Amino acid sequence: MTVMLADGRPMPRIGLGTWPMDDEQARQAVTHALSLGYRLIDTAARYGNERGVGAAVAESAVPREDVFVTTKLRGADHGYDAALRGCEASLRRLGLDYIDLYLIHWPLPGKDLYADTWRAFVRLREEGLVRSIGVSNFTPAQIRRLAGETGVWPVLNQVELHPGFPQTDLRAWHAEHDIVTQSWSPLGLGHKVLDDPVVTDLAATYGRTPAQVVLRWHLQLGAVPIPKSADTERMRQNIEVFDFSLTPDDMARLDALPGGRIGGDPETHVEL
Ligand code: NDP
Repeated sequence: MTVMLADGRPMPRIGLGTWPMDDEQARQAVTHALSLGYRLIDTAARYGNERGVGAAVAESAVPREDVFVTTKLRGADHGYDAALRGCEASLRRLGLDYIDLYLIHWPLPGKDLYADTWRAFVRLREEGLVRSIGVSNFTPAQIRRLAGETGVWPVLNQVELHPGFPQTDLRAWHAEHDIVTQSWSPLGLGHKVLDDPVVTDLAATYGRTPAQVVLRWHLQLGAVPIPKSADTERMRQNIEVFDFSLTPDDMARLDALPGGRIGGDPETHVEL
């Protein structure tokens, strides 16, 4: 199952998150994930596990071209030249010739370098070092600025999204501009959301686990979730979500869960 990015490249509909794994944990988790059928792996320079991810991809029997690797530029590498160097360093750590999707991890508006960074991303794509370029934690105004200054729109925005924080307006805006929404912390970090009575009731009704109900909700919203698990059984259940459907009423019950943002705010987040 894939979704088509605006640049014509297909991307898997679900992936594996790897924060906060270290290199060895990531190597083991990605190895298991690839054998279970995961084909999208999410990492970042900040996570410090690109070597582990790359080692697992290299050691796997799955051909490189069948695996979709996303990584992200850290805040210290914002700026045109720094971003070019940051990408080279990620490629070296990953041991790959190209990155499938390269994201600016956070806009960091206080630095005001994300537009220059984006110019470097456009060049990296032209040079073939990255296949697709996108952003993470960007607001519509910040994305408009990228497009206004370069004429190039990101194909994807990876943002916090889970029941209790459905990002309804942002998703609608993404859809209007052909930007794929990717969900980080899709399970709400596994705590409150999965224990919510609405979620556990739906899980009992559908004969699924709470995580499967929540991941199915993401798919039906049109978002691409990247749940993190280091546990083989939970990894397996997290991709077995393509053979059932939630009703519109049940989708609405999940939209309306209490909650809100649990991670950083794009307007104020700073990276130390
Ligand atoms: P998630 O919502 O994916 O939750 C992960 C937690 O849920 C872990 O504790 C995991 O434990 C648990 N879990 C996973 N599957 C199940 C299951 N089936 N049943 C019960 N518990 C489960 O949160 P993350 O914050 O990790 O987000 C996912 C990914 O998004 C990250 O790994 C990272 O790649 C990315 N991310 C990106 C950000 C950005 O700024 N762009 C910010 C934050 C995350 P266990 O491992 O024991 O299964």
